[in-house]
Amino acid sequence: MESSLAETRRGKIARMLKVTDMSPSEISSAIGEKVSYVVDDLVHISRSRKYGFMMVLPARCLKCGYVFKPEIKVPKRCPRCKSTWISEPRFKLV
Ligand SMILES: [Zn+2]
Repeated sequence: MESSLAETRRGKIARMLKVTDMSPSEISSAIGEKVSYVVDDLVHISRSRKYGFMMVLPARCLKCGYVFKPEIKVPKRCPRCKSTWISEPRFKLV
């Protein structure tokens, strides 16, 4: 059983992502919830058909340009150049 609180939070995130694409940090500050919870919610939203299709704009290394796999997580370090200067992935519901 999911709590109704988590359900409400996901509904709120889904409504925002239908308007514009956002990164986990942007969602985190918009709803005042930790990035780790936001990522967990994004995974649930992407698996549930009721919210639509989740588009993932992959994370990118800002030092060497390495493009990560389009996954719902926030990478910490570039596997190619080891830089931590990473642009977060962005998500949009279509
Ligand atoms: Zn890199």
